Amino acid sequence: MAETLEEAKKEAAALRKQLDEWAEAYYAKDAPEVEDYVYDQKYQRLLDLENAFPALRSSDSITQRVGGSVNSDLPKVEHPVPMLSMGDVFSKEELRDFDQRMQKAVGHPVAYNVELKIDGLSLSLEYQDGKLFRASTRGNGRVGEDVTSNVRYIKDIPQTLPQKLTTEVRGECYMGKEAFAKLNQERDDQGETVFANPRNAAAGSLRQLDPKVTKKRQLSTFIYTWVNPPEGISSQHQAIQELAKLGFHTNETGRKLASLEEVFDYIDEYTKKRDSLVYGIDGIVLKVDDLALQQELGNTVKVPRWEIAYKFQPEEEETIVRDIEWTV
Ligand code: NAD
Repeated sequence: MAETLEEAKKEAAALRKQLDEWAEAYYAKDAPEVEDYVYDQKYQRLLDLENAFPALRSSDSITQRVGGSVNSDLPKVEHPVPMLSMGDVFSKEELRDFDQRMQKAVGHPVAYNVELKIDGLSLSLEYQDGKLFRASTRGNGRVGEDVTSNVRYIKDIPQTLPQKLTTEVRGECYMGKEAFAKLNQERDDQGETVFANPRNAAAGSLRQLDPKVTKKRQLSTFIYTWVNPPEGISSQHQAIQELAKLGFHTNETGRKLASLEEVFDYIDEYTKKRDSLVYGIDGIVLKVDDLALQQELGNTVKVPRWEIAYKFQPEEEETIVRDIEWTV
């Protein structure tokens, strides 16, 4: 760790510049220059520096704003409710700290809805009188890109709801592993650059000026957030069940769990099952299940306080660990 404020200032500036460049490649061009874990390590280093030297904190630091950008030629949409990022942790120990924070904040143990962290990009869907009228990406969290014409071609998104609701839901737009392999094979055959991973393929396919391109790509969604749920819906778990009844594609692996031990079992289960899933996941999300408690806990400028992502170890590192285990 840097010893003096001067040293820390220098290092933080270099880290911010590097992270901003990587974020630009990742979010704006859908073409990451480094693996996520490399980005995550540098990001963590910047956070540590800012925590050790609070004078370094600044609102234009990537740690204080949602990372995406809105510099495509697509029309812009101002989000009525900001689309935030999510805090992340990399160990079960840190999940215990998160749980302690939640318990301390609300004064009693809390139940979590535990969900898979789908490796795609956030999508907002707005309905007026039961009809889909606008779809947008997260962008910088306040302003996203209008992708309404494109999502008309995503088969699992209902164009009309069974009730005349005026409402907004959010979820993840993703490309399944099979569709991703097929798309990259086609691109390779035609001498085009291939996408680095299904997340970037989904983003590149959704953020198209020509909806016919999106139509040719097989995109799917999992809807997991009801921004303004009707009265009577009091938990995240219940919200997802009701969203499924309205015709949204929801992920059925989510579970309401009352203890961290059960959460750890869920993590172990899906760490093993991860490769056999037909879509990519990069972690597990814990959400305080009670919507009233979510309100009470609120958000920071960047992330909701009531949810956290447990990110899986990068596959390369897992391989290295396994190799070492085999040779000792
Ligand atoms: P994030 O992608 O780590 O987590 C937040 C997102 O998770 C949400 O916006 C939502 O879209 C998604 N999500 C998936 N399943 C969900 C569920 N069940 N419930 C709620 N949300 C769910 O955060 P971010 O701010 O979008 O991006 C930061 C991450 O992006 C970094 O941690 C890094 O791994 C990656 N990144 C990589 C590079 C690179 O160069 N490789 C650059 C920038 C960012």
